[in-house]
Amino acid sequence: MSLSLYDTMTRKKRAFAPADPARVTMYVCGPTVYNYAHIGNFRPVVVFDLLFRLLRHTYGEDAVIYAANVTDVDDKINRKAAEEGVPIATVTDRYLSAYNADAAALGALRPTLQPRVTETMDAIVAMIGKLVANGAAYPAEGHVLFDTQAFPDYGKLSGRPMDEMIAGARVDVAPYKRHPADFVLWKPSKENEPQWESPFGPGRPGWHIECTAMIDQALGLPIDIHGGGIDLVFPHHENELAQGCCADKVETYAHVWMHNGFLNMADEKMSKSLGNVALAHDLLKTQPGEALRWALLVGHYRAPLEWTADLIDQSRKSLDRLYGALRRAGGIEASTDQPSARLLEALNDDLNTPQAMAELFALASRLETGDAAEKARAKGELAAGGQLMGFLCADPEAWFQGGADEGLKAKIEALIEARTAARAAKDFAEADRIRVQLTELNVVVMDGPTGATWRLKEQA
Ligand SMILES: [Zn+2]
Repeated sequence: MSLSLYDTMTRKKRAFAPADPARVTMYVCGPTVYNYAHIGNFRPVVVFDLLFRLLRHTYGEDAVIYAANVTDVDDKINRKAAEEGVPIATVTDRYLSAYNADAAALGALRPTLQPRVTETMDAIVAMIGKLVANGAAYPAEGHVLFDTQAFPDYGKLSGRPMDEMIAGARVDVAPYKRHPADFVLWKPSKENEPQWESPFGPGRPGWHIECTAMIDQALGLPIDIHGGGIDLVFPHHENELAQGCCADKVETYAHVWMHNGFLNMADEKMSKSLGNVALAHDLLKTQPGEALRWALLVGHYRAPLEWTADLIDQSRKSLDRLYGALRRAGGIEASTDQPSARLLEALNDDLNTPQAMAELFALASRLETGDAAEKARAKGELAAGGQLMGFLCADPEAWFQGGADEGLKAKIEALIEARTAARAAKDFAEADRIRVQLTELNVVVMDGPTGATWRLKEQA
């Protein structure tokens, strides 16, 4: 049973074969941490978490290295920090903690690596230097720009003619650019904004170079899988690819390019600029993370997903159905701890989650109506298949009691960790804010001599 994945570059589903099965590498573009992330930003988090789990199942837990970056240098971060009168790290640490807590509540495993731009600056500067030395970049008016004309394959990933790409992306045509498609690798910082020293003058990196430098440093080029939202194909991934190939003089940047479809709210692309804000952080106050995870995986990852209240409601009911079958089967001893062949086949077919979920329902039916041997097998396959997908990890009783499932537990632990850090930094306003959040989650925190412990309040 082999894994096949749809590759954006070749526009077809292809058998996946890692360059080294003992070291499978995956990179997914992560968040810019200046605010709570909306639910659409968590679609790739959950989709690629599922792939991470499947790869670990196939190649072994230690064989898969998954890096998801954190952009902690950005105009929006600068604005927020200026508004609050705090250093940018105060803003980025706060929202990275929240992001990780929300991702954990959605059942996402922590990526193996979570490189941050501020911690990768030397590698970024070195890579820009290499691009200049290789004739693929040029300095102009305090900036360093990538010379798109130096890379004949530019445009191959998105597959669109250059003029269309420029028009589509509304590329800023600055007078110092040799070609309108050329993009910024390094730029001067404005007054009072954070800046870093470099041979090209003090400043900060462009967005695209961050990812290429982080991939090169954290994983090494080429990588097996590069993922992200479909909106990143152009210009972000096109530019990443051009930078990586020209800096390291490699033919291939990523063997497979994967992109998830949009999450749509009210039939429009959900984005902050449209004002359709639905923060995962807020949703998680009223919905189990596992139900939101189910909702995010209900459709095939490449298709657009219509995000509605009804979808969340149906997802909860689906999990009630599966947990209900497991609860009623409490006395049955499972005869296997492996997922069913059908479930693996569905996931190995470019993450066909609708089919994998259908198999979970089929197993739940067999668990209730099969003969003794079928029931014992179905119970094991349902639990193992669910867990492979990041579901059914809670005790069925706890699910129905609304108790702390694994995702919620992870979220609480992360919040307590963030609160301890805030107190250590004497940021008592932040510590109090986190405490309010914990109270909203029904958590009672007890501070003791060896650190904080917690329990859930008894539900009336
Ligand atoms: Zn990226």
